[in-house]
Amino acid sequence: MGKLLRCIKCDKVFFKTPFDRWPEYENSSVFSSGTVRMIERDDFQEFLASHRGHRLEELEVYENSYVGEKPYIEPVKTSYFKATNGKKEFVIKKFRERIDEPLIYQIIHGNYSLHCVCIDIQSQQIKKQLEREFKHSTISDYEIEVFLKLCQGVALSADVEKLETSPEEREHPLTRFCKLDQISLKHLLKKCHTLFGKQGYREIDKFIYRHIDDGVLILKATFEISFS
Ligand SMILES: [Zn+2]
Repeated sequence: MGKLLRCIKCDKVFFKTPFDRWPEYENSSVFSSGTVRMIERDDFQEFLASHRGHRLEELEVYENSYVGEKPYIEPVKTSYFKATNGKKEFVIKKFRERIDEPLIYQIIHGNYSLHCVCIDIQSQQIKKQLEREFKHSTISDYEIEVFLKLCQGVALSADVEKLETSPEEREHPLTRFCKLDQISLKHLLKKCHTLFGKQGYREIDKFIYRHIDDGVLILKATFEISFS
């Protein structure tokens, strides 16, 4: 884990990682072919030198404040996160313009927040699971279609801020997998009651409870970043 340091005088930040001292290798025509010159570099020493005599403070990064437009694994991207010195909050921009450049951290003025733009169900997965478990004799294509619409309707009316985030692997900072909450679950069951007959309802009720926690009935929320 690294440390985020801020120069109070210049309002500049530096993220100190255990990798600041990695040497850089340089191919130079001055040297005979095949030799590589090693340059010791220490970005942290450079930061300290340019802020000599200035007071530095450590900022605490807010976990889960990280946002960005690109997937986590994308190396060239711009992302934002928040940190505090205990009194004041800071918004930090973290970016790199080329893959061979180091990451740059900058304090920016203003703030950002996330807004949910859509909540989706895993239609394909639900459909596959229904077909596998019910076979066509007990559930019709029509019932599957309507069930998917009911799930989507319930998902759209859910309050994303109140949904529990599922620990599913996150690939993108702007998507979040959420579990159906109790209120949405009740709505869904009630609607299923009118769609399915007595026997069918009993089966679908069991199906819903079987898959509430295993990723089949999971909701995918997509967000947008708004800057202010
Ligand atoms: Zn400074």
